[in-house]
Amino acid sequence: MISNFLKSQVTHILLYFLFLTFVLSVFGYSVLTEINGQVACQQIFPDISSNNPFCEYIGYLTHQEVVSKNICFNPDRPLTRGELSKLVVESSDLSIKTEGNNFSDVSSDHTFYRYINTLHKDGIVNGYSDGTFRPDESVSRAAFLKFVHNSVRFRREYLFPETTQKQVFADVSTDNVFYEFVQNVSVATISNENGDSVAIISGYSDGNFHPNAKITRAEAAKILTNTMKYTQIETHNCEEYYCEDLYEGKISIPEAVINEVSIIGETTEGRQIVRHDFGSGCNTVLLIGAIHGDEGNTANLMHEFIVELTNEVSMIPAGTRVIVVPELNKDGIVATTRNNSRGVDLNRNFNTTDWQADTYIGNLYVPGGGGEYPASEVETRLLTSLTTDITPDVVLSYHSNAAFVVPNKISEAVDYAERYAEFSGYLYTGGEENNGFLYEITGTYENWIAEQLNIPAIVVELESKNDSEFDRNKEALWDIIQRDYY
Ligand SMILES: [Zn+2]
Repeated sequence: MISNFLKSQVTHILLYFLFLTFVLSVFGYSVLTEINGQVACQQIFPDISSNNPFCEYIGYLTHQEVVSKNICFNPDRPLTRGELSKLVVESSDLSIKTEGNNFSDVSSDHTFYRYINTLHKDGIVNGYSDGTFRPDESVSRAAFLKFVHNSVRFRREYLFPETTQKQVFADVSTDNVFYEFVQNVSVATISNENGDSVAIISGYSDGNFHPNAKITRAEAAKILTNTMKYTQIETHNCEEYYCEDLYEGKISIPEAVINEVSIIGETTEGRQIVRHDFGSGCNTVLLIGAIHGDEGNTANLMHEFIVELTNEVSMIPAGTRVIVVPELNKDGIVATTRNNSRGVDLNRNFNTTDWQADTYIGNLYVPGGGGEYPASEVETRLLTSLTTDITPDVVLSYHSNAAFVVPNKISEAVDYAERYAEFSGYLYTGGEENNGFLYEITGTYENWIAEQLNIPAIVVELESKNDSEFDRNKEALWDIIQRDYY
């Protein structure tokens, strides 16, 4: 009896630890562990495991409060100019300047306003000649070094060496506009944990720097960590890269949410654009309705999806989030107009290489339909900021009424679109010029997602102009949500 009792206790304890291990591995959190006597990097983001080569840098910047403790870090996503502003200002400890409004697309309530404004006032950024800053645009690896270099130089006491040394990287020659910055940063060194002198940037093993590649958030974290080590600008003093005490109370396992509602911003006429979150983790499916105001049935479909997700939340796999924005163009819905209240077709206003001011709907020429400049509309900017911030695995945006499914130009999107077409019965129309549209379309959201974020997106065109067509879309939606994103 006793031994059986003990056995069952032991079994319970073992099961408990197995369960704990399972929970921790599902949510991607690990406690501080030692491997061969070395303290392994402590995981603080679900998408940065302790053996991720960038873990220590991302952890360091989080300790230094340069990086905010969001749910996910999104290491492979290109860094944006807005994010860059924050990272550079915080890591150089520049004093914040909040007076004035310098860029038409960065209002004083923009997430990165204070940082962009500071860099502008300090003469570190100028923005574009059309008066915009384009905070959601990505940054090349070479341009990133220019910002880092100049913000460090602004602090005067922390100069990078001026170098006349021979060219460090094979693919950054003297005629590259960023040559000076890449050279100066590349000859700066810090000492590593063994006391060896190491370069702040190392480039690739083939001797190249890939100056034109978009810098990822993880790469930026490494360079900024090394730069902070170099300048010795640290708000929190830590042994090496670890500040264990600062982790206290900062690690939290995000719980799955059921229809968590938040406001992403306001339309031109002040209507609130709402976001609904379901589930947990970093694998995200983003659904957008009513980019066009006269396609209100897509908003109705989104609201029916919200009810479905609320009722069936347990069907969302652990580690997957579903985010629904039922109505982007709320002013257009109220007025039953395709365009927003300023007469701009939001799905022609995105900052793509093919953006143009004048657009077409069928044979109808719409002067100014694309907006004054790319992302001139507040609704467009709210959607690009949201999409960038959450970095979804796939985006579905809903329109009516052509009864087809179209992938964007990312190859994975073809499979999503084909499967969606199969479940819903809408026609798959990928792979052709303009993807099945019979007229020229420019500046679209899907194209922006492809160019800027390299993420698959599909357009779902409902068949009618009035019905939500919930039943034929429901299975297609669950098929996408229940995919294995790991
Ligand atoms: Zn539409």
